[in-house]
Amino acid sequence: MPYRCDLGPGHSIYLDNQGNATIILVSSTGAGQQQQASNTVHTGPWTDVPQVAQVGNGVLIRCVSAQGVVMVQVQGSQIGLATSAAAWASGQTIAVQPTDHMPVPKMRPMEPMQPMEPMEPMQPMQPMRMGNMQMSANPMAMRMGNMEMQMGNTEATPKGQRQFCTQCGASVSPEDRFCGSCGHQLK
Ligand SMILES: [Zn+2]
Repeated sequence: MPYRCDLGPGHSIYLDNQGNATIILVSSTGAGQQQQASNTVHTGPWTDVPQVAQVGNGVLIRCVSAQGVVMVQVQGSQIGLATSAAAWASGQTIAVQPTDHMPVPKMRPMEPMQPMEPMEPMQPMQPMRMGNMQMSANPMAMRMGNMEMQMGNTEATPKGQRQFCTQCGASVSPEDRFCGSCGHQLK
């Protein structure tokens, strides 16, 4: 069961015993800003309700367990073991009341990393335009104004290929069976 001790307006100390540890959380609210400081001190399991006393400008917390008495000093946001128990006697005890929960610490644990979205599959290359220049792939072609370049998928056409008569050397068409000049049988 956590305990709460109000030191003043918007200034509270929360105490909780978990196993052998005492968790001390100092919460102060001022000018719309909330500040929290917490520390864990090895005290052993409480056998009694912890006590809080105002000492000077700080606070002493007295935790009683089967292992003995542990004094914790709180000064501002500094929380640590008190070096001297002598101050306790001259301190002014502050009421400690049970509370149903500790305030949620300001620092939240990191959320687990979300798995990365799978990469989008590569889109087939789209024709690319730059001014009057156009490029496309498959077949690789590039057009710039009225100039065109194309690579691959272009076969050399046998058009314009000339043949000559083996007899007289006159130019003949590939379709010709006989030479038009000397009548030599070509095929
Ligand atoms: Zn001929």
